[in-house]
Amino acid sequence: MTESKGYAAPAAHAPLAPFDFQRRDVGPHDVRIEILFCGVCHSDVHQVRNEWGGSIFPMVPGHEIVGRVTEVGAHVTSFKPGDLAGVGCLVDSCQHCDECAEGLEQYCDNGSVGTYGAVDKDGSITYGGYSNNIVVTEKFVLHVSEKLDLARVAPLLCAGITTWSPLRQWNAKAGDRVAVMGLGGLGHMAVKFAAAMGCEVTVLSTSPSKEADAKALGAHKFVVTKDAEAMKSVRNYFDLIINTVSAAMDLTPYISSLRLDGTMVLLGVPPEAPQLHAFNLIAKRRRIAGSLIGGIKETQEMLDFCAENNVMSDVEIIRMDYINEAYERMMKSDVKYRFVIDLATL
Ligand code: NAP
Ligand code: ZN
Repeated sequence: MTESKGYAAPAAHAPLAPFDFQRRDVGPHDVRIEILFCGVCHSDVHQVRNEWGGSIFPMVPGHEIVGRVTEVGAHVTSFKPGDLAGVGCLVDSCQHCDECAEGLEQYCDNGSVGTYGAVDKDGSITYGGYSNNIVVTEKFVLHVSEKLDLARVAPLLCAGITTWSPLRQWNAKAGDRVAVMGLGGLGHMAVKFAAAMGCEVTVLSTSPSKEADAKALGAHKFVVTKDAEAMKSVRNYFDLIINTVSAAMDLTPYISSLRLDGTMVLLGVPPEAPQLHAFNLIAKRRRIAGSLIGGIKETQEMLDFCAENNVMSDVEIIRMDYINEAYERMMKSDVKYRFVIDLATL
């Protein structure tokens, strides 16, 4: 076992504080990574506050991890000490169900293992990236390009893949009208990707102050959702809506902005169920769907695309001891557009 340190929430709603714990030794198929940067996802806040139920404490959050490999097991072939590496929301899965065979480990029939707050295959509880190092089986470690700014790469491991995957699955292409609901960590990556795919991108936001940023990120239109007239102007309009909103809401006006056969993909996981009237879907054969992060193969494809096209997250780099304040600001949609912890400050 290796003495490790990080920041943990000792109980639901308690502030995060320094925490010492142990990581397993590097096994034959494992890679140890010294963590350099870790993004702060809204899912961290939901889980630290036990908003989805079932949170396990103490919890070391963090699933947007980049760092350098310091040690590899005897059977590891694709990483060596000194390589850059990334870890996202998953650290293992059953590896033999149909979904795993297809590279869709996030939908593993036997339950994939989350990077933190989950029961690992050996029965231990996983601890995430608000820490100085992590040990992960090789198959779940991503290659990170030396070309990009590492702090700006970290959010790609969750916010990036979570928005990339549905855009690919719903075949977003040049000319498609794509809306992004909520301009936060996920939302700003959705805007960048959809714009890079040639889509006509509209941001649907509750924050009028974000209009200039949305346009700079690649959006063509910006609609303030509280403005009923502006919402009317996009009735029956979108092919695809990427919904990243983290709070429960009435979906009616948003669903009404889908054209015939249009789809809203739910990515945000509010603690309470959203409101929806069946007629709203029926009227134009609209669809509502969901999507969970992305598999390892697709995550690598997304990272490679970002390296080739110089796509990165817009970040505010913070010290580890700023984390509780960062959570409060994230709850007020006050972040441009992802907090990333510099683990050198741990
Ligand atoms: P975030 O950075 O806090 O962004 C969420 C955005 O939603 C905010 O910036 C805000 O945008 C909008 N919003 C917040 N409260 C709202 C409200 N009451 N009404 C309407 N809009 C509101 O969060 P994130 O990290 O992007 O995560 C977003 C959600 O996705 C979370 O629920 C998270 O757990 C979930 N998530 C899901 C997956 C998955 O695999 N499906 C993966 C990661 C995260 P505006 O200011 O523009 O309105
Ligand atoms: Zn996340």
